[in-house]
Amino acid sequence: MSFFQNTLDLIEKASKLMKLDLNVKEILSNPNRIIEVSLPIKMDSGKVKVFRGFRVQHNDLAGPYKGGIRYHPQVDMEEVKALATLMTFKCAVVGLPLGGGKGGVIVDPKSLSLSELERLTRKYAERIAPFIGPEVDVPAPDVNTDAQIMAWIADEYSKVTGKNALGVVTGKPLPVGGSLGREKATARGGHYVLSEIVKEKNIDPKNTTIVIQGFGNAGANAARILDEDGYKIIAASDSKGGIYCKDGIHAIKAIQCKMEKGSIHECTIGGAVDYHVSKGATCQRITNEELLELECDILILSAMENQVTGKNAAKIKAKMILELANGPMDQEADEILEKRGITVIPDILANAGGVTVSYFELVQNQMNYYWPKDEIQQRLKVIMVNGWNRVKEVAAQYKCTLRMAAFITALSRLSELMKLRGSV
Ligand code: GLU
Repeated sequence: MSFFQNTLDLIEKASKLMKLDLNVKEILSNPNRIIEVSLPIKMDSGKVKVFRGFRVQHNDLAGPYKGGIRYHPQVDMEEVKALATLMTFKCAVVGLPLGGGKGGVIVDPKSLSLSELERLTRKYAERIAPFIGPEVDVPAPDVNTDAQIMAWIADEYSKVTGKNALGVVTGKPLPVGGSLGREKATARGGHYVLSEIVKEKNIDPKNTTIVIQGFGNAGANAARILDEDGYKIIAASDSKGGIYCKDGIHAIKAIQCKMEKGSIHECTIGGAVDYHVSKGATCQRITNEELLELECDILILSAMENQVTGKNAAKIKAKMILELANGPMDQEADEILEKRGITVIPDILANAGGVTVSYFELVQNQMNYYWPKDEIQQRLKVIMVNGWNRVKEVAAQYKCTLRMAAFITALSRLSELMKLRGSV
């Protein structure tokens, strides 16, 4: 089943549970606008290559469309539609005054030189410029895009429109109007929710093992924060594969090693350079498949969509799953894990920290006044903990999974908004 269809099915299922007005469900099952652009770029060789890019604007009733831009060779329109839809729900779960959107370019950015990457980014910004803006649609980083890419978009948009409009994107570098705390926000937001659950269940981090799939912005920062808390991270992976270190992984050294060697898969002890990423004597290489099936207390999914499916859900041995990626699990897996009593903290709540600090960035850009880090973290904590408490209450009320409760929470907010604005 496609990722978009899976997302529509989740909306359908939650709508039935809460007996939602069918008109609301119908509106939210269709993105408002779909943009496809061609991006002709002169490569360093002098040859012109045409790339394809997308921007999907799902819904803007709560505020400007908001969501990242992904650079990946497997990006397609259906995927971007699903991700844009999830953004509308994500913003609604935590109550942000923002809508949902997402963008993507079909490209492997690692195959481009820095100047090719800049030209591609500027062309994409130029092509979507008529459709975005600080009050219209505000992109941000996602898979394989970063603060530098956001700076180029802000600069190009400002040139095209003749205005200094830094608030057109979030996740920018600090000197270009970025916010303190944005870089780690996705991981930190997930950590705030996890900490509430750990407190409620009386779990001691020191006796808790963690496995992390995905070692990009979300996964690597989660590793760092959880390592500081005393959790034992026993395995981590990226797209090339993973490592399993039974005595624990030293997060900061693992991040350093990945930066130098290109993949966490290269970071076992005994290679040419000894990084000692393991807290014990040894580490072994494992595949991503093996990593998902490791015995552990908490599995963090921070890679791509559709990683835990009907095919491998029965083999998952974690007691709890934290979804820092978008859509890492399909519905079949959801049902299997529910029956097996495995708690899943769903993406639209667990990874909402990123867009929440993006919201703070937008607010700071509009005020042209910047908050200190403590203030950002405190505000983020309040929003994440409130979101968790609401979802928990709804789960108890409907006797449903946390995912269904998160969708119901979002749908009730969106439906109230639609009624007040007169859309239904
Ligand atoms: N790409 C991130 C997400 O999927 C952040 C989006 C944003 O900050 O707008 O939530």
